[in-house]
Amino acid sequence: MRLLFLSLCSIVLVLAGCAAPAAPAAPSANGAASPVLRIVTTVSPITNIAYNIAGDRAQITGIVPEGVNSHTFEPAPSDAKTMAEADLIFINGLKLEEPTLALAEANKNDEAEIVLLGDLTVTPEEYVFDFSFPKEAGSPNPHLWPNPDFGLRYAEIIRDTLSARDPAGADYYNANYTAFAARIEALKEAIRATVNSIPAENRKLLTYHDSWAYFAPIYGMTVIGAIQPSDFAEPSARDVADIITQIKAEKVPAVFGSEVFPSPILEQIAKESGAQYVDDLRDDDLPGAPGEAQHSYLGLMVNNMVVMAQALGGDPSLIENFDTSNVPGADGSVLQNQ
Ligand SMILES: [Zn+2]
Repeated sequence: MRLLFLSLCSIVLVLAGCAAPAAPAAPSANGAASPVLRIVTTVSPITNIAYNIAGDRAQITGIVPEGVNSHTFEPAPSDAKTMAEADLIFINGLKLEEPTLALAEANKNDEAEIVLLGDLTVTPEEYVFDFSFPKEAGSPNPHLWPNPDFGLRYAEIIRDTLSARDPAGADYYNANYTAFAARIEALKEAIRATVNSIPAENRKLLTYHDSWAYFAPIYGMTVIGAIQPSDFAEPSARDVADIITQIKAEKVPAVFGSEVFPSPILEQIAKESGAQYVDDLRDDDLPGAPGEAQHSYLGLMVNNMVVMAQALGGDPSLIENFDTSNVPGADGSVLQNQ
């Protein structure tokens, strides 16, 4: 009797198995089979922070190609179509990308939302004005993201914006944010340790492009000057002479150029002042190529800290092995204008 019962059970199970519909494909980690939102971003650090929160649940297009001057960048007419199809458009603001903002406002669809991350991160009282971004010109230094706390604030605004637009993805966006926040905390510790390994008298940044105004004071470094004038032309002979005098007086070990702004003036300044010329700081050109692990906001920050530590007498080993990969994995799905 007992045997018969088991046999019947087996038959029922086999029949049930045959009749069952084909199992659905395993849901992807983001909970959606295809992108739910279309997002447009501008500079690559913002593109990457957006990717860390949205993952493949959004199709992200970065408008500003890496390695171009984002401050003077003019979007192509073809970018208008991308703008028109977007649900959300994330822009740094603080007047960094005025032509791109104008194109977005002119072409976005009625339901689309433009979010100015920088303007939502600092108040006018926190604006920094300096040589390259003088107060009389009316635009503060827009480089907020080299300060990791501000990078995390961008991520928070992006999480909240995505969650409001796509409530079904809110848990996914929040989980990514939580993981990203933990990485930012670890990054801040590694930056602090690296800066502290630089002899105190060397914790000075003299840069060509003026990207470190919101970073340096937090980590005990001083921006003693920037060379690039506010119109992004070359500095005058008088400015160059003054800088050489300043480098000698302050015994600055290195002058930092950037990959995006090669300048023969920097070589001249280095030669005449005795400072080392280092030309590979980056502010909106991520290291590596899209789809590679170090092509990330974290990779950008780590790369810059290694460059600074090497040039200023610090210990780059305190940060060079930091995990710079993206929370949702490599960013091969991001469409980045080149
Ligand atoms: Zn810049």
